[in-house]
Amino acid sequence: MLAYQHAYHAGNFADVHKHLTLFSVIQYLLRKNSPITYVDTHAGRGRYPLGTVETRKLMEYRTGVVPLWQARHELATANTLLEAWLDRLQEAQDAQSARLTHYPGSPWWLAHELRPQDRLSLFELHPGEHRHLEAQALPTNARRVHGDGLAGLARMLPVATPRLCVLIDPSYERKDEYQEVVTALCRLAGKARHGVVLVWYPLLPAGRHRELLASLRDSGLRKLWQSELQLAEPSDTHGMYGSGMLVLNPPWGLGETLAAAMAEVTPRLGPAARHRSGWWVEE
Ligand code: SAM
Repeated sequence: MLAYQHAYHAGNFADVHKHLTLFSVIQYLLRKNSPITYVDTHAGRGRYPLGTVETRKLMEYRTGVVPLWQARHELATANTLLEAWLDRLQEAQDAQSARLTHYPGSPWWLAHELRPQDRLSLFELHPGEHRHLEAQALPTNARRVHGDGLAGLARMLPVATPRLCVLIDPSYERKDEYQEVVTALCRLAGKARHGVVLVWYPLLPAGRHRELLASLRDSGLRKLWQSELQLAEPSDTHGMYGSGMLVLNPPWGLGETLAAAMAEVTPRLGPAARHRSGWWVEE
């Protein structure tokens, strides 16, 4: 079953949360010169025009990236991470347009920070989504693979570069995907002890993310940091009411940097929006 298409959700509050976290992690990693292997296990299309039929159907970007774009001058003055993130967002627009025409997906955020010594592997299983990804202009050290992301990641371990950074961002269409994420994280930690791994998960009324979190706590993994953005109470909605990010082996200082940026972002995402972060499993 591969029904999910991220184009229907591009630029929503969860994308903002996920890509701001990803961008911040990358900025920390770029402080050292040693090469990094980046892996995006569930890549999607790479860059989303906001004018397509799919994206205009739900227009989730209107309550995600748009309020941040509208307040970009104020946000950039208030916070240096947001200033840099919003600069990149500007670079993702057509011909430096002052209008928001596109929302960049994770392959774009990763490829944009790629240095000659780094490598990027982008996995996408959906044939149509992979065709869109193939159409993106990416640097030569970014490879695109049409196939299963977690299996592909397992085959790559251990990587040849001294550092590894992985984004795991499944669509969670299958219940099993929560447990597959746990297995993938444990396998990775066994083969690349210092690898930095980001996992996105949805907060849905069914509450399956709690099983994911409990399994990870019981797994023996250490240094797992959590950030949750909640827009509503679970009882008030049938849909996704929040977005969660886990970072295994977070760079030192990430928590404070993101908390400061999210303090500016969160009030713009809705009247009941709130953000909290901290260790899920300490060292
Ligand atoms: N990471 C993207 C971003 O931030 O822009 C969004 C990814 S979207 C949430 C999940 C993607 O994973 C979809 O494009 C879906 O087709 C793809 N997918 C689903 N199962 C997969 C699998 N087993 N391996 C790789 N990709 C898969």
